[in-house]
Amino acid sequence: MRKYVIMGVQGSGKGTQAMLLAADLDLVHISVGDIFRWNVQHHTKLGAQVRRTMAGGELVGDDLVEGVVKTRLADHDWNFGFIIDGFPRNERQAEFFLESYDIDGVIHLEMPDSEVRRRVMARRLCAGCGMDYNLLASTPSTAGRCDVCGGELVTREDDTEEALAVRLRDYHQKTNPVLDIFRRKEYVVTVDARPGRDIVQKEIRERLGLPPLPAAGQDGPAAGGAAAGR
Ligand code: ADP
Ligand code: ZN
Repeated sequence: MRKYVIMGVQGSGKGTQAMLLAADLDLVHISVGDIFRWNVQHHTKLGAQVRRTMAGGELVGDDLVEGVVKTRLADHDWNFGFIIDGFPRNERQAEFFLESYDIDGVIHLEMPDSEVRRRVMARRLCAGCGMDYNLLASTPSTAGRCDVCGGELVTREDDTEEALAVRLRDYHQKTNPVLDIFRRKEYVVTVDARPGRDIVQKEIRERLGLPPLPAAGQDGPAAGGAAAGR
């Protein structure tokens, strides 16, 4: 059983890297942001509680977030483990998490703020299935439409200059101290998030002592032929 946390500034590719790891290692991918967005989209009570906070780029209250994480992990559908993305985001959440679960590693995707804006502004989300697109890395085969479900590609409500500034500020003020807590416990591997998706994934796996991805992804720059070893 493997339990990982993935951390990184907005647009650093946490969701993408978490998904690649989860699919291959049979981990459950838990994205707190995705859970909230799903609830907003489906007009649930929780969605109504978090909608305005999220749109402004502010952090949702700790009690609410901890409740969501607790409930999600209590499903115990994660026989092979989980990778959690978007949590913990401040010291209190980190303490709650460490009290409740032991973890095997923290993946820290590092990227300068100057790159954040470029990536976040190019991000689109499928209104149908929630799939993430980045127009810098790949364009969908029909402009503005999801390759998977044909849904409309929209901009996330919190991907505006104003909300992004708030999120970045929170990241540096509140989330960096979480990294320090994890570093003291020697959980953290820091990986450069600037290269392409497959290169970042390869680096993560090397650093965690995991075997490389069996098949190369679709859009890596000439992904290097035969995967050496296993
Ligand atoms: P990003 O990392 O790009 O800011 P996420 O998709 O992880 O985006 O989260 C989107 C929003 O959901 C956050 O801006 C915040 O409002 C809320 N949120 C997600 N995780 C947490 C958390 N652990 N604590 C408080 N709010 C959270
Ligand atoms: Zn879709």
